[in-house]
Amino acid sequence: MTAAHKGCLECGKPWNERKPGREFCCSSCRLAFNNRRMKRGAEMYDLFRAMRRERDQAKLLGIWAEMCRLELRWQQEDQEQRPGRRSYMPPRKALTNLRETGRLPIGDVVAKSYRAGR
Ligand SMILES: [Zn+2]
Repeated sequence: MTAAHKGCLECGKPWNERKPGREFCCSSCRLAFNNRRMKRGAEMYDLFRAMRRERDQAKLLGIWAEMCRLELRWQQEDQEQRPGRRSYMPPRKALTNLRETGRLPIGDVVAKSYRAGR
């Protein structure tokens, strides 16, 4: 688990006490943080979709293991380049953000037609 970092999540610059709750010191740090998340998300997108939609083929190819290996590389990169600072949103914030945009469906995660086919 990554401890809460006191300062800019991207560059690590410590905060001045008057700005509690901020995550980034400037817009270029916020952009760099979010661009890395977008790039990594794009790398994971097809693998995750394949896991969900073409399960047999994904299993055969060891997609889950590759996803875990990719995440481990990101973790290692983070530890080398930005020690002590997470490069992802904490779980509760990630869910809250998705819910607030209305993009997170509510209900079963497994479609009924898919479940019926089992
Ligand atoms: Zn910064």
